[in-house]
Amino acid sequence: MFAIRIHETGGPEKLLPEEIALPAPDRGQLRIRVEAAGVNFIDTYLRSGLYKVSLPFLPGMEAAGVVTAVGAGVTGFRGGDRVATTNALGAYAAETLVPADKALPIPAAIATPTAAALLSQGLTAHFLATDTFPLKAGDTALVHAGAGGVGLLLTQLAKLRGARVIATVGSDAKVALAREAGADAVCVYTRENFTEAVRRFTDGRGVDVAYDSVGKQTFEGTLDSLRPRGLFVSFGNASGPVPAFAPLVLAQKGSLYMTRPTLNHYLRTPEELRARAADLFAWVAAGQLKVRIGATFPLASAADAHRALESRATTGKVLLQP
Ligand code: NDP
Repeated sequence: MFAIRIHETGGPEKLLPEEIALPAPDRGQLRIRVEAAGVNFIDTYLRSGLYKVSLPFLPGMEAAGVVTAVGAGVTGFRGGDRVATTNALGAYAAETLVPADKALPIPAAIATPTAAALLSQGLTAHFLATDTFPLKAGDTALVHAGAGGVGLLLTQLAKLRGARVIATVGSDAKVALAREAGADAVCVYTRENFTEAVRRFTDGRGVDVAYDSVGKQTFEGTLDSLRPRGLFVSFGNASGPVPAFAPLVLAQKGSLYMTRPTLNHYLRTPEELRARAADLFAWVAAGQLKVRIGATFPLASAADAHRALESRATTGKVLLQP
C-alpha cells in the first residue's frame, strides 16, 4: 500500500513516499480507505522534531474515507460506511487504521473531503470558542492567522456566538477571506502594528480574549492587546514556540490569564467528541459554517503541501488525495 513515512525528523523532504504493508485492524480498530487526508500544522511539528515521535513514523492524523475492514469487538460500523477521524494512525496513506471510538460517521449532507477539511480545525475552533473562553454577545476577540484553517472557522464560530472579531492576516490577498468569515476588522500584521489596530478596534480598552496560534512572533504584541484580566489563549507555534517568560509579566500587563490548551484535553470521551462534531456537521449542513478547502495536493506531493503550509502560502484547509 502507498503511504508517506518519516524515518528521521527534519524538513519536508523527510516525507518519503513508500510501499508499506498495513496490517488487518486490531481489536477495536477500523481500517479505512482514505479519500482525503487533512494536513495540519501539527504534522509539521511532528515532522520537524519540535514535537517528539518514535521513528519510523506514519504522519497524518486526520482522514475521511470508507471503512474496508472492522476489527473484533467493534460495534456500530460496517464495511462501506463513510467515516472521518482526527486520530488516524497514519492518514497520509491509501489506507489507514483508526480506533473505532475515535471514528465519526459522516452525515449524508456532508461530502467526504469536507469532513476531512472540517474536523481537526473545526473541533479546535469549537473548544476555543465555547469552552476555553465561552464567547458571548458583546465580547471582543483577537484571532491571529485569520485566513488559515483554524482562523476562518474560529472567526465564523465567534460571530455565530455574537462576539466582535479582529483578525490578523499575513498578506493583503488574505484580507477578503477573513472578512468573508465575518471579521469586523482585519489587520495585515506583516506591515501594520496589530496591537495598535486592536486598541483602535476596542477604543483603547483591549480585547477580552486573544487566540494566538502564531507563538513566538506575536507573543509580546498579543500580551499588549488584552484588556485587564483578559485571557491569552496560546494554542499554537506556527512561527516557533513562545519563549520562557516570568509570570510577573502577566501582573504587569493587567493581571492577565493565560492558558495553553490542546485539542485532546477537550475531547476526553467519545461522547465529547461526538457532541462537538455533531455541532460542526449541523452548522455546515445548515450553511452556517463554511469550510474552505484552499488546496488539494496528490498524496505523493505531501512534501509540497508542507512547504506551502509553512511558507504561509495557504488559506483555509490543505488536503492530500491518495
Ligand atoms: P493555518 O492554516 O492557520 O496555517 C498557519 C498560519 O499561521 C499561516 O497560514 C500564517 O498565516 C500563520 N503564520 C504566522 N507566522 C507564521 C510563520 N512564521 N510560519 C508559518 N505560518 C505563520 O494552520 P492550521 O489551521 O493547521 O493551524 C493553525 C494553528 O493552530 C497552528 O499553530 C496549530 O499548531 C494550531 N492548532 C492547535 C491545536 C491545539 O489543540 N492546540 C489544534 C489545531 C491547530 P498568515 O500568513 O495569515 O500569518
